[in-house]
This record gives sequence, C-alpha cells and structure tokens, in this order.
Amino acid sequence: MKIVSTIEEVRTQVAAWKKAGETIGFVPTMGYLHEGHLSLIEAAGENDRVVVSIFVNPMQFGPTEDLASYPRDLERDAALCEKYHVDLIFHPTAEEMYGESFYSYVDMDVLTKELCGLSRPVHFRGVCTVVAKLFNIVTPDRAYFGEKDAQQLAIIKRMVQDLNMPLTIKGCPIIREEDGLAKSSRNTYLSPEERKAALVLSRSVFLGKAMAEQGEKDADRIKAAMTAEIESEPLARIDYVKIVDLKTMQQVKTINGGILAAIAVYIGKTRLIDNFMISD
Ligand code: AMP
Repeated sequence: MKIVSTIEEVRTQVAAWKKAGETIGFVPTMGYLHEGHLSLIEAAGENDRVVVSIFVNPMQFGPTEDLASYPRDLERDAALCEKYHVDLIFHPTAEEMYGESFYSYVDMDVLTKELCGLSRPVHFRGVCTVVAKLFNIVTPDRAYFGEKDAQQLAIIKRMVQDLNMPLTIKGCPIIREEDGLAKSSRNTYLSPEERKAALVLSRSVFLGKAMAEQGEKDADRIKAAMTAEIESEPLARIDYVKIVDLKTMQQVKTINGGILAAIAVYIGKTRLIDNFMISD
C-alpha cells in the first residue's frame, strides 16, 4: 500500500493501473476510520484497485463547526487500510487541494436546501466541490458512500448525473455499534453519559421504521412519535426530524414510494445524524 500526498503521485499511479486495464474503486473519507468506512472499503474490493482519500476538507465546515477539533490519526488509519487491502491512500494538505487561492465551486439547488443544508449552509457546496475534485484526480470507475449520510449520497448521485461524470456511485448500508448507535468519527466527542444519551437517535429511527413497515402512511404521525422519543432524553436537543422524498429531499405528507426519514440531534455540543430509508 502506498500513501501519497500530491495530486501528481495519484495521477501517475492511477495511469499505470489504467494502462494495465485495471478498474478503480474509490472511498472518500475524512479519516479516523471505523467499521462504517471499512464496510465501504470492503465493498470497493469488487474493483481491481482500491483508493481511499483521507482529507478533513475545510470547505465543508462552517465557521463555528468542529474543523480544528475533528479527530485525526493517520498512522492508525493507514494500519486499518493496509489490513483491508487498500492499494493507495491519498492524504493531501489543504494547500495541495486548494492552492493559495481558489475560485471555482460545484453548487447544487433543491436537494441541498433541506435537512442538513438548512443548519449547515456552506456544507454541501464544500462536499460537492471536494468530491468533484477528488473524482477528477482519482478518476475511479466506482465510488462508495454510506447511507449514514443519506442526503450527501443523494446529492453526490445527482451531481454525477447532472454533470455527466463518468463513474458509478454505490451506496452502502449504515453500520452501527452493537447497541444501535450509528458509527461516526464524531462519537469520540461524547462523554460516557452522553454516549448513553446518544442511543435516543437509533431508538427514534427504529421506532419510525417499525411504524412505516407496519403500514403507517401518515408522515406527521411517524415524525411525532420519533420526536417524542428524542424529547424523552434530557441531554438531547433536536435540530430536525423530517421525512422527505428520496429523490428531491422535499418533505412529504404521505409515505408513498421512496422516502428518507432523517434526524439531526445535539447530544450536549455534539451534533449526530441518523436515518432510515424506504426505497421505491
Ligand atoms: P466521513 O469520514 O465521515 O466523511 O465519512 C466517509 C464516508 O463513510 C461517507 O460516505 C459516510 O457516509 C461513510 N460512513 C460514515 N459512517 C458510516 C456508517 N456508520 N455506516 C456506513 N457508512 C458510513
């Protein structure tokens, strides 16, 4: 496994693989890898070569968000990647990615205006821009994203469709801790007491999912039950509980076809997300 930090090194390696007729799977991450990331890396094993990027992208953090404190541990990440047969880690600096000045952005309408887009106004512009750049650098055949960040997955799929990017986007299921909490690098921020309180997210998601599976069609009733569950936890503060159309991210009243039920909840100062989806 190689670890490189320049765009040129990635291009040289990828060119050699492509010349040999090999396919490339790509997993973009911000590092501090856990089983959620590793499940994407395993899925990417269907390609001849697997590239993982580890880059805490400043452009997708708002001014009051956790860019400085976001957990980082390249050595640990590299050992995990090696174990999971990654061929190349791309670990650029912000300067390598954005140079001294940077003026071009990939922005998206509609899908970015709901859910996390409301509480994190610059977030998806930063995500789309960095992912488009990474796709241009790595030129993968397939790229892998987690359903944990369901809005992000929908946005990336739409960007690839709208901008005719020549690759396939694959979504992978949410990986959870044994007690239900969705794995996240941000779980490391939680105190032991907050870690217990954070279980309210998965409880709320499982409750909503069970209602939908039992035939409840009224989105407001499902939302009310999910909200009440979260409000039963004193350390939790709701950012949003919403049920949206899977393709447009606009709120629905009735559950018909593909929907995403998504929640964002502060546990103390830590903002956590979780969701369930019902496909068409
Ligand atoms: P991040 O490092 O948080 O930017 O995440 C990198 C990728 O891993 C994204 O596509 C996430 O959706 C995915 N991911 C993060 N946590 C999980 C999880 N618990 N289950 C599945 N995928 C995940």
